[in-house]
Amino acid sequence: MRAAVYEGEGRLVVRDVPDPVPAADEVLIEVEACGVCGSDVQIINIPAGHPSTPPVIIGHEFVGWIRAVGSAVRDLAVGSRVVCDPDPKCGACDSCRAGRPANCTNIVALGVYRDGALAQYVTAPANSVYPISEDVPAELAALVEPLACVVNGTNRAGLRPGESVVVFGAGAIGCLFTAVLHAAGAARIIVVEPSAARAPVARALGAADVLSPDDWAARRAELMPAGADVVVDAVGSVLPQAIEAAGMGARVIVFGMNQNAHPAVHQVEIVEKGLSILGSYISNFTFPAAIRLVESGQLNLAPMITATIPLDDTVAGIARIRSGEAVKIVIKP
Ligand SMILES: [Zn+2]
Ligand SMILES: [Zn+2]
Repeated sequence: MRAAVYEGEGRLVVRDVPDPVPAADEVLIEVEACGVCGSDVQIINIPAGHPSTPPVIIGHEFVGWIRAVGSAVRDLAVGSRVVCDPDPKCGACDSCRAGRPANCTNIVALGVYRDGALAQYVTAPANSVYPISEDVPAELAALVEPLACVVNGTNRAGLRPGESVVVFGAGAIGCLFTAVLHAAGAARIIVVEPSAARAPVARALGAADVLSPDDWAARRAELMPAGADVVVDAVGSVLPQAIEAAGMGARVIVFGMNQNAHPAVHQVEIVEKGLSILGSYISNFTFPAAIRLVESGQLNLAPMITATIPLDDTVAGIARIRSGEAVKIVIKP
């Protein structure tokens, strides 16, 4: 089969590889669509901004069709359409047994530490896949994984109707936060994003204003004098700006990931404002909710899909995400 293989130090190559074979407790999935994630870009950056173990097939935001099941698999049938939690939980470590699956110490993530879905086929543990309606367009079904992570973050934020929000970043994650917080009753959402190309997408998903970082700095006191009730860092390096944007008693969701970021934080502001700084990592029993949100059509997510491209164009697609021109690139192998 064809696959996009990360071979180390910034090298991503689309080439032929052997077809995968499912283990007894796994399923074989024919990939219908797989989104390119910001963490894929980070893996390929030099230096890498996200760990991984090359050589590995990247890609973890996918929908596909079960084509074979291992001998120990129950409850899943060949021919089912499924999405996948690419961070399989062990169910046995202290974190799993304490109800914190995102902190599972035995996760072997698809597309990072084991082969992922920027390929024609992928294997996954049976207990990590979820059926999804055949009526959902493939591009939107491929958004379920990042949406499940974002729903975890919005659950952490505990937004109450009528509250104000600032989201840093209008990539896919920032746009999904905007959509979910808008649906949850946020009164006003301001998105801070340097790429002008992403602004119309953030507006379509519920942002009242989309400002460049410079414009936000200049107009913050005018637009949101009391600061925001909920602030989201969907970039991974803007915690200082997020703290500055926060109002009294605000919740700050720290979501984006960049291993190379070490920003200096004005700690006393956290104390004086009584802020809650909440790290939010991957999903947390939130796949079913994300699937229902996509199946119901409650969120207007279609504007996020910048382009759908073939697997052989993966390298160019990743460049479009890195440049800030695209929001979500979906690959159909
Ligand atoms: Zn992702
Ligand atoms: Zn575990």
